Amino acid sequence: MIFSWLRSRRRRAICQRPFPAPWDETLSRVCRQAAWLDEGDSRRWRQWIALFLAEKRFEGCGGQRIDDDVRLAIAGQAGLVALGFPDELFDRLKSILVYPGDWVGKKATSLEGGVHLEWRERRLGEAWNGGSVVLAWPAVRRGGLLQDGPRSVVIHEFAHLVDAMNGPFDGLPPLPRGVDGRDWAARLTACRERYEEALDEGRSVALDDYAAESPVEFFAVASECFFQDPHRLIRGDAELYDLLAVSWQQDPKSRVPMSSLRGR
Ligand SMILES: [Zn+2]
Repeated sequence: MIFSWLRSRRRRAICQRPFPAPWDETLSRVCRQAAWLDEGDSRRWRQWIALFLAEKRFEGCGGQRIDDDVRLAIAGQAGLVALGFPDELFDRLKSILVYPGDWVGKKATSLEGGVHLEWRERRLGEAWNGGSVVLAWPAVRRGGLLQDGPRSVVIHEFAHLVDAMNGPFDGLPPLPRGVDGRDWAARLTACRERYEEALDEGRSVALDDYAAESPVEFFAVASECFFQDPHRLIRGDAELYDLLAVSWQQDPKSRVPMSSLRGR
């Protein structure tokens, strides 16, 4: 109780400080999404970034340097997902580990008959039970520069963290009060089935095929597209966009320009 009182007092003090001008300059360079936000969203977004930077530990791994470019590219993209719930600071998340490139992670699954399979694969990001997030800097950078189409590894990993807020990683994030969770989940499943069918039939789809990996990855990959290129998501499946607009409590199509107008 005392801790949370102290924390909210500290947070209030941080929000009252002027946002450092060099951070604005860095954000406009490493997080191009900054240009999409109107005045009110931009103010809330920058307050969230200041709090996030004050509370989280950034660790460079494998020789990665941590500077303001790295910290702000990550906080800026993470702050986009928090625009719908600006008081959410991911309290369980303590540290962000940044690598200079992809790293090789372990993956395991159990097959029928009790066979346990383990293998290694290259990764761009990973969320570990909500306590830490691991990110590859080149992928973080591409997402902030809008050079990865609808992808952003930061948005992807923070979508996983939000997914796990109401229980296990299951591709079903918390929903606002009053939303029928069963109906929402059934409609999301129908979107995933439509997507997988289109993928199987070789039709063009809005999402990277990594979305077909599992319901958990479907939610994270669809969320990347929702924030990075909502018009592409709407063209692919307008109902999926609407469902995500409910869970993220935002409507990014009203702020994000069509990709053809972004000057890329
Ligand atoms: Zn994932």
